[in-house]
Amino acid sequence: MDIFCKIINNEIPSYTLYEDKIVKVFLDVNPNHNGHTLIVPKKHYQDFFDIDEETLNYILKIARDMAKRLKERLNYDGISLCQNNGLGQEVKHFHLHLIPKYHNEEKLSVEEIYNKLK
Ligand code: AMP
Repeated sequence: MDIFCKIINNEIPSYTLYEDKIVKVFLDVNPNHNGHTLIVPKKHYQDFFDIDEETLNYILKIARDMAKRLKERLNYDGISLCQNNGLGQEVKHFHLHLIPKYHNEEKLSVEEIYNKLK
């Protein structure tokens, strides 16, 4: 079982920001920038080619909602959406990264960021 399946099953803790029947959204434990967030389908899909279109569209909708929440709470200057497949994909369970960018950034711990976002 991959690590994201374990997080979804609550076998491994996570800084969860949102969850429903379809997705779980939590902070990346090794963030590139403050507020680096992962959107993960609860059903196991390996990657972009494996995931069904309906779930993919739903993830994009959640991504926009989450990007707005991150903007309100962290006031980033830009945000990137990123999704790795094959080479460069560390966890073989589909996930979309939301990566905020800042002109000036004081890097905070994941826990501190979680406290601002929850
Ligand atoms: P990717 O290279 O697209 O597969 O990215 C995998 C991401 O998952 C990396 O940014 C890791 O920091 C992140 N990651 C790995 N383990 C965990 C975990 N237990 N909780 C949250 N994020 C994780």
